[in-house]
Amino acid sequence: MITLALMEDSAPRPAPQAITAANPADRPVYVIGGGPGGLATAYALRALGIRAVVVERADAVGASWRRHYDRLHLHTTRRLSALPGLKMPRRFGRWAARDDVVRYLEKYAEVHELEIVTGVEVSRVERTADGAGWLLRATGGRELVGSAVVVATGYNHTPYLPDWPGREEFTGELTHAGAYRDGAPYAGRDVLVVGVGNTGAEIAVDLVEHGAGRVRLAVRTVPHLVRRSTAGWAAQYSGILVRRLPVALVDRICRVMARASIPDLSAHGLPRPDTGLYTRARQGAIPVQDVGLIEAVRKGRVEVVAAVEGFEDGGKVVLADGTRISPDAVVAATGYVRALEPLVGHLGVLDERGRPVAHGARTCEEAPGLYFTGFTTPISGTLRELSIDAEKIAKAVRRARR
Ligand SMILES: Cc1cc2nc3c(=O)[nH]c(=O)nc-3n(C[C@H](O)[C@H](O)[C@H](O)COP(=O)(O)OP(=O)(O)OC[C@H]3O[C@@H](n4cnc5c(N)ncnc54)[C@H](O)[C@@H]3O)c2cc1C
Repeated sequence: MITLALMEDSAPRPAPQAITAANPADRPVYVIGGGPGGLATAYALRALGIRAVVVERADAVGASWRRHYDRLHLHTTRRLSALPGLKMPRRFGRWAARDDVVRYLEKYAEVHELEIVTGVEVSRVERTADGAGWLLRATGGRELVGSAVVVATGYNHTPYLPDWPGREEFTGELTHAGAYRDGAPYAGRDVLVVGVGNTGAEIAVDLVEHGAGRVRLAVRTVPHLVRRSTAGWAAQYSGILVRRLPVALVDRICRVMARASIPDLSAHGLPRPDTGLYTRARQGAIPVQDVGLIEAVRKGRVEVVAAVEGFEDGGKVVLADGTRISPDAVVAATGYVRALEPLVGHLGVLDERGRPVAHGARTCEEAPGLYFTGFTTPISGTLRELSIDAEKIAKAVRRARR
């Protein structure tokens, strides 16, 4: 990895690069974000002989992975999670652990000699005055000018905590899942986990395993549960195989598979969902891979309760069915927002939900040379899709230069 000397705000500010219409193609491509998406795209560009500079706000690559909770392992296989140009070593096992993913990303940057600027946050992307490139406004008043920009700032950018009534007055402990590391601090305590995505499901199990006194899981929409692997067949393989099939057909196949492999948990508060798995996935709700939740719910170690509506009288949580409960701690696994608005919202490239209108190799007509990667949640595995997009984006950048 080539880390450029722009680490601190106090570091000398480089002079803004000259903006000349004569040499727009000589400008580097700036990649915003040094996560898997940004690193893979920088590699793919470099492999085509195009200079790419990754700008990362944290002080090291893989910042999101460094923050994830301790027990996290990939839900996707090692082989299908590797980025282009570097396999994940066999010793990571089939499901790589969080720390191994971080090590892999560090190694990836190093092996491919990626040009990375750390400690610099890009706050806004604008067209250059000559219209031939992009101007990035970054930490400390820096202005970076590139021929193209790849936004790879991550789907899980900013923790989202619903504005529940009474939230500020809650006297118990309220933590977003993004700040959860492990269940040790919760041993013996009564904990409510809010939200049953993959993160909420795994945290609930982690709390049980760390000896929490009571674990409840607040569920608004019943999730689709899938086994990470059945008789050696990873759920991800099915996700890849069915991707191009009609949604209704995939929904039917998944329903049959679920009946064969997932027990009926209706009596425990988790009936089978009405809407199909693939229909939901296309709306952004990927299925929950079982890492112990099914067993924990069956054995009553995780109790499913209604969604959270708000807080009351300081210590009470109000649930959608009218129940009031008084947990010692609440862990909100309520997701994240992409938070792309300040960066690119003024360019007309986002839809009403703040998602990029064009993704991967495609760009908006009004914003040629501005690419987005990592803002979808495909059932075939995000890391795999990031790798595919990286190579497509690199080829699109090369085409645009000809
Ligand atoms: C708990 C969890 C488990 C997951 N497990 C899997 C899995 O098993 N398999 C799978 O395929 N996918 C998984 N994913 C999904 C996905 O692969 C990861 O979220 C992955 O890290 C996405 O990579 P990314 O590069 O798009 O974003 P990130 O990894 O979030 O990287 C974005 C980077 O951009 C930086 N950044 C953000 N804003 C700026 C800015 N303005 N200026 C400069 N830098 C900025 C951040 O610091 C960060 O380093 C998981 C996600 C989560 C949250």
